[in-house]
Amino acid sequence: MALLLCGCSSSPTQNSPYPAYQRLKHFSEIEAIARRGTDYEIITKSGGNELLLLAIHGGQTEPGTSELLQEIEKLLPDTVESSRYEFQSLKRSPDFDEGSLTDPWLHLTSHRYDEPELERLAPNKNVCLSLHGFYGDEADFCLGGQNEVLRARLLEALSQETNWRTCEFCCGKYAGLQAKNPVNFCKQAGVQIEMGHQLRRRLLNDPAFRHIVAARIVSAIRDSENIRN
Ligand SMILES: [Zn+2]
Repeated sequence: MALLLCGCSSSPTQNSPYPAYQRLKHFSEIEAIARRGTDYEIITKSGGNELLLLAIHGGQTEPGTSELLQEIEKLLPDTVESSRYEFQSLKRSPDFDEGSLTDPWLHLTSHRYDEPELERLAPNKNVCLSLHGFYGDEADFCLGGQNEVLRARLLEALSQETNWRTCEFCCGKYAGLQAKNPVNFCKQAGVQIEMGHQLRRRLLNDPAFRHIVAARIVSAIRDSENIRN
């Protein structure tokens, strides 16, 4: 079975007024087809330089990612100085795919995500944690990104729930290792968590479950040696 991840292998719906997201090459192209405040919003919260929480395909693009990010932020102890950056698509386009819970409309592939606010913010932060949703459902949590220490902690924390399908670099080419992927813009790079659509559906519909997942992730952040270095 082909590994269809992050919506990246979908083809554009015929007669769609929207370009397929794989054709978007720069953030300026989003600005050309959509309006900030009406179609999308960029939300930043500056709370310190240790950790940057990222959802660059948030809102209706990869539903569940913004919601989990905000829950993680709520549960982080005061001892972790964290900031947040979210790109939220505010509307579902006609191309929204209910099955995979993804919308190609304003999806700018990670390694092309050249939004200036994020490019200014991330290099000042120590470690990034970036949440995404895949198109496929081969795993619940697929861990990637260049920060080995936090990745190992997250693998350990999420694998404690044996009914969650957690694996490392199991999303084909979407491993989050490219230098141009914003997850690696932080000083010590970061970890990317790709989440399958069944898992994200449960995150959206079950606040108690969302809390449990966020708590596991926060436990890994708290135990990670290199957030503060
Ligand atoms: Zn994504």
